[in-house]
Amino acid sequence: MRRQIAVIGGGLTGLTAAYDLICVGHDVTIYEASSATGGLARGFQDENWDWSLEHFYHHLFESDKDLLQLVNELGITDQLFFPRPESSVYYKGTIYPFDSISAFFDFPGFNFWQTLRFGAVTAALRYTRFWRLLERTTADQWMRRWYGRTVYEATWKPLLINKFGRYYDQVPMSWMWARIYARSQKLGYFKGGFQTFADALTHAFFVRGGKIHYQQPVEKIVETNGRITITTSEGHTATYDQCLVTSSPQSLLKLAPAIPALHDTYASKLENLKSIGAVVMVVAMRWPLLKNTYWLNIPATSPDKTANEIPFLALVEHTNYIKNKHYGGDHIVYLGDYVEPDHPYFSMSKEELEELFLSHLSKFNVNFNRDWVRKTWLFRAKYAQPVPLVRHSQNIPDLQTPIPGLYFASMSQVYPWDRGTNFAVKLGRRVSKLMQSQRDTEPETDD
Ligand SMILES: Cc1cc2nc3c(=O)[nH]c(=O)nc-3n(C[C@H](O)[C@H](O)[C@H](O)COP(=O)(O)OP(=O)(O)OC[C@H]3O[C@@H](n4cnc5c(N)ncnc54)[C@H](O)[C@@H]3O)c2cc1C
Repeated sequence: MRRQIAVIGGGLTGLTAAYDLICVGHDVTIYEASSATGGLARGFQDENWDWSLEHFYHHLFESDKDLLQLVNELGITDQLFFPRPESSVYYKGTIYPFDSISAFFDFPGFNFWQTLRFGAVTAALRYTRFWRLLERTTADQWMRRWYGRTVYEATWKPLLINKFGRYYDQVPMSWMWARIYARSQKLGYFKGGFQTFADALTHAFFVRGGKIHYQQPVEKIVETNGRITITTSEGHTATYDQCLVTSSPQSLLKLAPAIPALHDTYASKLENLKSIGAVVMVVAMRWPLLKNTYWLNIPATSPDKTANEIPFLALVEHTNYIKNKHYGGDHIVYLGDYVEPDHPYFSMSKEELEELFLSHLSKFNVNFNRDWVRKTWLFRAKYAQPVPLVRHSQNIPDLQTPIPGLYFASMSQVYPWDRGTNFAVKLGRRVSKLMQSQRDTEPETDD
């Protein structure tokens, strides 16, 4: 039966689900709050550039099978390429390569035996599939024990603090396992940026008759007699047989306030899902900042960001991965951090953050000065990184909400995997299958 379906959010989860649903013959309308599709993987383009660039640094792994499969279906495999960029770590004021066996042996933070232990434990994690056993303990406890204190404190602990701030010692080992298990050294990128992929998917949706309402944030979702009525911020209403929400768990609770009364446990699962925001400054420079490094990990020692030497966690020199000829000769550096939505980084002006972040760049290249900077852009997202806790698999809300016909699919439900475009595609496909399999009988209507 042909159904009328609304999808809230034109990020990769919503777009993928919408594409699959229209492919099987439903009428699908996407409501997107912003002016373009792509969500967190969306790009922007300076007038001097040939390619668009993501607001937040992005790459793929060779293991990202679901996304690669969709890319193949869309006929754009020739738009993907996989360079092998260099990753390094900033340790006691110096940059050390940190992405090969020889680099691990040269790293001054470990002695010979500690390097062997680092390699052996990492290899064991790459080959195990028993993540459910690992979710019973925190990464902090597990890694301290198996890697040993020195290795843990020089490498993994800073990574956990960087990513999760005050939650760093509550995250389960299964999250860390997923990062180690699914990563490759070659990193995939699209000719023209990730926007090429979002545009191809949007186009494939359009040509099948899909509709997208841009700059139409949905504010309310109500179910009556088995049908779902949505209201946008401009007061437009429309009624559908099914509706998929792909925003944050907290926003679902605001959009559909009937959920707690219908199912207390589902509502408290949504309420209890934790997440953290991201603040990223993109800097276009006249000269390269780092020699060869694409990804520079900057170890944090304290969850209190003001107590750390450097006020951001990642320095990503995109043009040490993708040639700068695509960006009019600019050298592009991302300076990013994960912080809670009430952190000052969310209220500080762009000028204040620029002053704070740029004042540290000469630590990475003594020749750096402000004249190198041609332009900067600031991007912030309050829902950017879900924070899983111990035994998280038991606390994930179902894709089917307690409201008949209303579905929910978000980054917080891709666990044990870390959020990522591959898992957005996988989740979009999963929820579209579920929606197709349900409600095959005519819903009741008012008349
Ligand atoms: C700093 C950072 C770095 C990342 N790096 C990588 C990487 O290297 N590789 C990788 O694969 N992934 C990466 N990711 C993750 C990846 O971008 C996300 O996992 C993926 O894009 C999530 O897609 P989504 O559709 O689930 O959510 P989103 O992209 O958040 O999309 C949700 C959409 O819903 C819209 N929306 C929200 N509320 C409403 C409303 N009420 N009405 C209408 N529309 C609404 C939003 O505008 C948005 O477009 C990164 C993310 C961040 C933040």
